[in-house]
Amino acid sequence: MINPQSYKWFFETTTAVEGHMHAIVRTIASAQTKYQQMEILELAAYGKALVLDGRIQSSQHDEFIYHEGLVHPGLLAHPRPERAMVIGGGEGATLREILRHPSIRRALMVDIDQEVVEQCKRHLPEMHQGAFDDPRTEVLHDDARAFLEQTSERFDLIVVDLTEPLEEGPACLLFTKEFYTLIRDRLTPVGIMTMQAGMTKVGELDFFTSICRTVREVFPVVAPYQTYISCFAVPWGFLVASKGSDPRKQTAQEVDQLIASRIKGELGYWDSQTHAHAFSLPKHIRRALEKQDRVITDKHPLIVA
Ligand code: SAM
Repeated sequence: MINPQSYKWFFETTTAVEGHMHAIVRTIASAQTKYQQMEILELAAYGKALVLDGRIQSSQHDEFIYHEGLVHPGLLAHPRPERAMVIGGGEGATLREILRHPSIRRALMVDIDQEVVEQCKRHLPEMHQGAFDDPRTEVLHDDARAFLEQTSERFDLIVVDLTEPLEEGPACLLFTKEFYTLIRDRLTPVGIMTMQAGMTKVGELDFFTSICRTVREVFPVVAPYQTYISCFAVPWGFLVASKGSDPRKQTAQEVDQLIASRIKGELGYWDSQTHAHAFSLPKHIRRALEKQDRVITDKHPLIVA
């Protein structure tokens, strides 16, 4: 019988009035970087986890759900993706999933925080699984918005895997209409953007729905979906945005064939049934998406508590 008092506990606030407790086995690393407070913890229930500014980014035991769900629906909606960019992506697991597509010739990751990336490289090999050493990978440490403003490169896929826009956090101006416009302009004509878009828990849909509404201003196709991330203790929203192709139009047979023919190794989470489930949003979320009229702009950014 495990005695809860024998553990130290990490209390993660999900919202200002709710939270989730995790028993800590050990603290592997802890630092205040130039941009954020970073911890790598070993949690009793989830194994190693990266925590930034008090929020779990991913955990060893369920990160496959988050990262497969973030990357593959977008990549599989592209006819032949070769050049991919990750915005943020600290742990390297987003890169890892992109690199499972042999058609990928270049995978560029731009994460502002070198110290976080170095600590992830060192302490989270289970997550990156060598993705940083793949010859197709390049990692830059820069503000992704500043990078996109000055680059002339074009990408088939851009994955936005950022921390939440916390007050004074490094990601505040990377959830705005102006930023999504910049991404659209750095994509090839059949290019695709995919992103994590915040929680989809009841009573807290404003962030997710206003991001979807904002991206709709910029991209003709926006396909929102959700999965349950158990270490976050809430369902989580994502979206695929494109200038034409729509993952919701793929049949179950197509999804399974694409996975079999285009992805190296076996996926643990994403397949045609997961795809159908993720894109079939329940009624209250569809209603909230229809009702949302807020467009997030640089002048009126969205900041989470
Ligand atoms: N899985 C995550 C979640 O739950 O939200 C996000 C993954 S990842 C750890 C987020 C990364 O975004 C961090 O490593 C952080 O340094 C990076 N980041 C934040 N703001 C950024 C910016 N302006 N430009 C580039 N990277 C940024």
